[in-house]
Amino acid sequence: MEAVAAAAEAREQLRESFASGRTRPAAWRAAQLRGLLRMAADMEAEICAALRADLAKPRTESYVHEISLVTSSCKFALKNLKKWMKPNKVPAGLLTFPSAARIAAEPLGVVLVISAWNYPFLLAVDPVIGAIAAGNAVVLKPSEVAPATSALLADLLPRYVDGSCVRVVEGGIPETTALLEQKWDKIFYTGNGKVGRIVMSFAAKHLTPVVLELGGKCPVVVDSNVDLQVAAKRIAAGKWGCNSGQACISPDYIVTTKCFAPKLLDALKRVLDKFYGKEPLRSPDLSRIVNSNHFNRLQALMDEETVSDKIVFGGESDEQQLKIAPTLLLDVPLDSTIMKEEIFGPLLPIITVDKIHESFGVINSMSKPLAAYLFSNDSRLKQQFEMNVSAGGMIFNDIGIHLTNPHLPFGGVGESGMGAYHGTFSFDAFTHMKAVLDRSFLGEAKARYPPYTPAKLKIL
Ligand code: NAD
Repeated sequence: MEAVAAAAEAREQLRESFASGRTRPAAWRAAQLRGLLRMAADMEAEICAALRADLAKPRTESYVHEISLVTSSCKFALKNLKKWMKPNKVPAGLLTFPSAARIAAEPLGVVLVISAWNYPFLLAVDPVIGAIAAGNAVVLKPSEVAPATSALLADLLPRYVDGSCVRVVEGGIPETTALLEQKWDKIFYTGNGKVGRIVMSFAAKHLTPVVLELGGKCPVVVDSNVDLQVAAKRIAAGKWGCNSGQACISPDYIVTTKCFAPKLLDALKRVLDKFYGKEPLRSPDLSRIVNSNHFNRLQALMDEETVSDKIVFGGESDEQQLKIAPTLLLDVPLDSTIMKEEIFGPLLPIITVDKIHESFGVINSMSKPLAAYLFSNDSRLKQQFEMNVSAGGMIFNDIGIHLTNPHLPFGGVGESGMGAYHGTFSFDAFTHMKAVLDRSFLGEAKARYPPYTPAKLKIL
């Protein structure tokens, strides 16, 4: 009951603030974005410490993958804010002559952002940047699974942005459920598809639009026509160098040919030795698994009867430290749990096929991923991959870096989500594009009014 009352109070207070018009001027929006920029700069050490407490995230990863992305998002929004807010004049059309037509960017109102634990600073603040740039009031619900970052956000945000329009509500399922029971003008949710369905069912009650940033099994197809050393480094950095594989766009499995698999395996093993040494569990550059539930889930994926003898590298784990070594598995059965569920951890199965084109069938037998990757120098194969594989985003010859380009939408398709954000798309996600037609009293056409006579019909 307390959670419900707190959620209702937050919602009501923000509704009043939004109704006062406070969030609409460009000056208010810019001041909040500058506040977030200052927060990221002043509090870098505290943010890194929280991420270390939650995930043992190495400082370089915390800075490059979270803090600097928040900073560049703020800067991009600040640079483009006035352009985004400006009404977009469009042709008026003969039928409405004389008139002027425009598309006005209208804030949606009071929005709810629910974020996930794996990039707990970035995934919380980045959507808030979009919501503020678009002139909304916003409630942020950080993930309770990353409690240090959640507490830090609750402490910091009111110190750097207008607390009458931006609120942080901490908590787990009861608090999130209480928030979801309220009426919002948009819900932006990042997390797994099971909870995505719960979010959608709450949203349906109020016809609230949603953005769902979900996950899935992101495939990496590796052709033989590649620079193998570069490919192996980029795959390893995109998997283990991103939160130990606990990333939504992390490689989930590799598909390559039977002939090429031994070479690829060797290259990956060499790179992993170089990155994390002979005792990877002791490496300070490898994040830990977020909690014992996820640790046990990942351990169970490796221990499954048909899978455990497919481990060809790694496999060690340390329950005390919640660390699992980078692990490669070769040709696990496609019906094993590790190939049925999103792995979201440091295990990487390699599936082999006779011909590289057969990879399309493997990918398309699963639900649509958030990202799909192909390593190849063959332009025809790239073209065919783009044509045949549906995914939220796609990269040739690298992993994950599409999310750093603010001109590209970031979001899923099918079970990997709906809607998108980043750059202009963040502004659009929290904006209603209102059609405005300004008509003159001139231009009367008698034919449009009753009585409808045959003569009038002829004119029309
Ligand atoms: P999580 O456990 O942090 O949950 C996300 C949010 O949902 C949290 O704020 C949590 O409080 C809330 N929640 C959990 N259970 C709920 C319930 N029953 N009712 C209402 N709210 C509830 O994160 P997670 O789901 O474990 O995140 C991992 C998943 O998120 C993976 O599938 C990953 O691929 C996906 N993900 C997607 C993106 C993206 O940008 N598309 C980014 C990160 C993670």
